[in-house]
Amino acid sequence: ENKERLQKVIANSGVTSRRKAEDMIVSGRVKVNNKVVTELGTKVSKQDSVAVDDIVIEKEQPVYYIINKPRQTLSSVQDDKDRQVVTDYLSPYIEQRVYPVGRLDYDTTGVLLLTNDGDLTNKLIHPKYGVDKVYVAKVKGIFDKKDLTQLKKGVEHEGERLKAVKARIIEIDKRKNVSKVELVLHQGKNRQVKRMFESLGYSVEKLRRERFGTLTLGNLQPGEYRELTPHEVKQLA
Ligand code: URA
Repeated sequence: ENKERLQKVIANSGVTSRRKAEDMIVSGRVKVNNKVVTELGTKVSKQDSVAVDDIVIEKEQPVYYIINKPRQTLSSVQDDKDRQVVTDYLSPYIEQRVYPVGRLDYDTTGVLLLTNDGDLTNKLIHPKYGVDKVYVAKVKGIFDKKDLTQLKKGVEHEGERLKAVKARIIEIDKRKNVSKVELVLHQGKNRQVKRMFESLGYSVEKLRRERFGTLTLGNLQPGEYRELTPHEVKQLA
């Protein structure tokens, strides 16, 4: 499980670019478990030993960051329309290529985990684990308390049953005609929070993720990020 292409493993270790890694493989300079491999499609796992010119390469260090994703930012690493992406906020001195764990909408702010640890990523986004995701939604209008029950029972939307494990009203501002509602989800369906509120007739003006599993936003301002402590990484896994 979790195998990667040989040229990618070599490039990720920082030895060289992926293109040059391919040349190295083809020209017979690369060994996997002490045997020369010249096939470009070869896949290797973490357990395999990879050597270039008989020097075993160092594996890429796993790194973990939490960012408060700003609005008008995609939770991806590149965009063909040149919109802002979340990794634009990271220091260019971070050597590892990291990827967001799951997604937040373009206009949603809040907790996003960024890592190069594919195993942890797969685990955290798998529905089986049902990681807590806590959202605060600012919705138009006066939220009816009775609708909390409906959010917890679940709403049917485009053939999917969308439900919250918890729902509570944080604040109702009659003067501004807006309400703040907190939802805890275990599911992680596309646009789930917005779809749930829309099904009940509310439109979401702002959405922020306060928590992802054990990771909370704390004092991070939109666009700010920090590395997780080793303790936080253990808590997540
Ligand atoms: N639900 C949404 O509707 N949007 C998000 O970005 C996350 C959860």
